Amino acid sequence: MAFETFLNKVTPLLNLSTEQLKNISTPNHVHFAELELSGKKYPAWRVQFNNSRGPYKGGIRFHPDVNEEEVTDLAFWMTLKTAVANLPLGGGKGGVKVNPKELSLEEIEELSRKYVQAFHSFIGPEQDIPAPDVYTTPQIMAWMKNEYEKIVGHPAPGVITGKPLEFGGSEVRNIATALGGVYVTQEAIKKLNITGKRVAVQGFGNAGSVMAQLLYERGYTIVAISDSKSGIYNPEGIDPEEALVIKQKLGSIATVPGDKISSNGVLTVDCDILVPAALDGVITKENANEIKAKLIVELANGPTTAEADELLYQRDITVLPDVLANAGGVTVSYFEWVQNQSNGHWDAITVKTKLKEKMITAFDQLWELYQQNDYNLRTTAYLHAIKKVLSAENKV
Ligand code: GLU
Repeated sequence: MAFETFLNKVTPLLNLSTEQLKNISTPNHVHFAELELSGKKYPAWRVQFNNSRGPYKGGIRFHPDVNEEEVTDLAFWMTLKTAVANLPLGGGKGGVKVNPKELSLEEIEELSRKYVQAFHSFIGPEQDIPAPDVYTTPQIMAWMKNEYEKIVGHPAPGVITGKPLEFGGSEVRNIATALGGVYVTQEAIKKLNITGKRVAVQGFGNAGSVMAQLLYERGYTIVAISDSKSGIYNPEGIDPEEALVIKQKLGSIATVPGDKISSNGVLTVDCDILVPAALDGVITKENANEIKAKLIVELANGPTTAEADELLYQRDITVLPDVLANAGGVTVSYFEWVQNQSNGHWDAITVKTKLKEKMITAFDQLWELYQQNDYNLRTTAYLHAIKKVLSAENKV
C-alpha cells in the first residue's frame, strides 16, 4: 500500500515501539459489503483507520478504480490530515467500485442508500462521519443522511457532512477544499519568494475547477487545465469560468481555446505553481524530473509517489502535501458537524474567517518544524501527525 511506503520512510525517525508501529500502521476496521443494483454487484468499503483523536472522518468515493488498498491509504491520510489541521477527529474513508457516469440519477440514489444500509451500524455523528470525495456530491450526502435517519428513526444531520445547505450543510463547504488550498498557497509563496503567477491545474472537478477560479480571481494566470479525458495548455491564460461552462455543456474541456495535451501532460508544462487536483499516484519517478513548477500544491489525495517525492525534494521543488493542502474540505466538514451538533448555522464570513485561521495555523506549525529539520514538508507533516495520534493513544 502507498501509505506503507511513506510510513517506512518516516517511522525510523521516530523510535517507535513495536506496539506503536502496529498502532499507526494498522486500520482499526475494514468493513466490506457488496451493493446490489439492477442485478449487478458493486464492491464497497468503509475503512476506519484510527479514532484516537475523535470520531472517524473521511469521504466516500464512487470510482471504477476503487479498491481496498486505496480506501485504506486514503483512511490513513485522513488520520494524518485531521491531526495536521488540529481537528478533534480521526481518520476513515469509504468507496464504491463503480463508474457513476454509467448510472442514471435514480441508480446513483439507490446505490447511495444501499451504502448506508450496508454500513449504518458503523457510522453515526459520534462514531464515523462520512463526506463527499471523488464523484460524490452534496445530493448524494442528502440521500445518505435521509437513509440513515430512516434507519435510526430520528434526525441525525451530523452523521454526514458536505450536505446541501437546506439539509443542514455549511456555508462555504462547496468551495472549502480549494479555498483552504488558496490560503496555504499564498503563505507558501510568501515564504518561498515566488513571484511568478502561472498555474497549471490537473483535474477539473470540485477541487480543481474551484481552485483555478479562485486563483484566477486573485490575479494568477491559469496556463493549463485538464479533466479525465484531456488537457489544454494556453500560455496566454485560460478563463476557468468559461472552461466550466464548456465542460458543463459538452461534458469535456476539449474545446477550451489552447493547445490540446494529455491529462498528465498538464503536470509538466512550463508554470510556477502546479496543482494536482485529480487522482493519486500521478507524479511518479518517470515524470518528476520533467516538472517545471517551483511549488506543488496537492489538492488531490496522494498524487505524488514516495519515489517522486524524493526526486522533487532533491530538485528543490516545494510540495505542500495533501494532508495540509487539501485539509480545507475536512475543516469545513468539521465546522458543519459542529453546527449540526449544536443546531446552529454560521454565515459565510464566519466560516471563511475560521477556515483561514485553521489553515494558516496548520501551515505555520508545519513550516516552523520544517525549518528546524532536514526533511521535506511531507515528512515533517507525517512526523508531527503521527506523534499527535500516538500521544492521544497514551502510548508515547
Ligand atoms: N474527501 C475530503 C478529503 O479527502 C473531505 C473529507 C471530509 O470532509 O470528511 O479530505
